[in-house]
Amino acid sequence: MGLVVQKYGGSSVADAEGIKRVAKRIVEAKKNGHQVVVVVSAMGDTTDELIDLAEQVSPMPAGREFDMLLTAGERISMALLAMAIKNLGHEAQSFTGSQAGVITDSVHNKARIIDVTPGRIRTALDEGNIAIVAGFQGVSQDKKDITTLGRGGSDTTAVALAAALHAEVCEIYTDVDGVFTADPRVVKKARKIDWISSEDMLELAASGSKVLLHRCVEYARRYDIPIHVRSSFSGLPGTWVSNEKPESQGDQQVEHAIISGVAHDVSEAKITVVGVPDKPGEAAVIFRAIADAEINIDMIVQNVSAASTGLTDISFTLPKTEGRKAIDALERAKGGIGFESLRYDDQIGKISLVGAGMKTNPGVTASFFQALSDAGVNIELISTSEIRISVVTRQDDVPGAVRAVHSAFGLDSDSDEAVVYGGTGR
Ligand code: ASP
Ligand code: MG
Repeated sequence: MGLVVQKYGGSSVADAEGIKRVAKRIVEAKKNGHQVVVVVSAMGDTTDELIDLAEQVSPMPAGREFDMLLTAGERISMALLAMAIKNLGHEAQSFTGSQAGVITDSVHNKARIIDVTPGRIRTALDEGNIAIVAGFQGVSQDKKDITTLGRGGSDTTAVALAAALHAEVCEIYTDVDGVFTADPRVVKKARKIDWISSEDMLELAASGSKVLLHRCVEYARRYDIPIHVRSSFSGLPGTWVSNEKPESQGDQQVEHAIISGVAHDVSEAKITVVGVPDKPGEAAVIFRAIADAEINIDMIVQNVSAASTGLTDISFTLPKTEGRKAIDALERAKGGIGFESLRYDDQIGKISLVGAGMKTNPGVTASFFQALSDAGVNIELISTSEIRISVVTRQDDVPGAVRAVHSAFGLDSDSDEAVVYGGTGR
């Protein structure tokens, strides 16, 4: 039996009962003969509460101190979990990210892992311990300061440790039974997926699916680590995410499902640059201004110019949290661009259909648009990749649109099997 990395999210360890329940599950894995490394998130909404607290003290807390504060959340849960395991008669030791050898760059709040040197974890395992590691944190290589990996970063910690320790699997325990064909909070008839390719999972994560972080899937794909997403509440088998379909998941020859799922995202806003002169170089100046402000954008649409005016409109979407910064950057660049005005709209939502089978099945796009039309949903922007179609609509239309598309592609389950066990969705 090999080494497994298990990651438990905040809702799985929300209170003392949760911690004790998780401790039992960890001990089971150990009793089954595995070496067990556990990555744990902060209890319940602790991270949000710490952020609220920081904002009450200072409107713009310093990155270094902010990270120091946030990592406290995971330290609480790791120590309590180790105590609970010891109470069950098994040996456990907890480690901060830094002690576990998670080395990052020095970008506070969204640090990237650059190396993992888990010497102390190896030693702890060799001595027969269960190793508990605080997720979402590391230490910067040059300044030796404590860093955090960005919201939801514990998943990335888990996969990074799994890769460094050559684990046979990285199990991500959450408050739903796996990856569903749509967000079970929106679509009651969403179906649990047994296996999904890393490729499709990456696209779902990029399109707003929150069950796994994009960065974590990217990491797992690069190091070829299979992920098993499952619930810590039910004990049911969950969803396997891997580059190749594992043998346990049935016939290798059978074709993949055409559509993996429907994702939605209401965290973006749309900016329209109105009245841009239709001549070479304008788009370059606009997006240079946005890039210099370190803002990542998503979809871009440029309309044809009206012949009479020679002016065109360019729209793009970006995270709502970056809206103010983008508008300021464009206002500053206005002289060099010469547009007429800017429009900002944060009442939009994005719906995406994902599946590698799209490449070879004509008609998917037509059926997608038909479903939206039947649901009376107006489309504002469209973008596609080889394995995804996304549209922007009014935010209010999103739940209905997701359900309509889910039904139209035959993804509805017969039963309402999608259970959400915990979490406030905060
Ligand atoms: N506690 C951190 C957060 O809430 C990290 C995590 O949960 O993965 O974002
Ligand atoms: Mg969390």
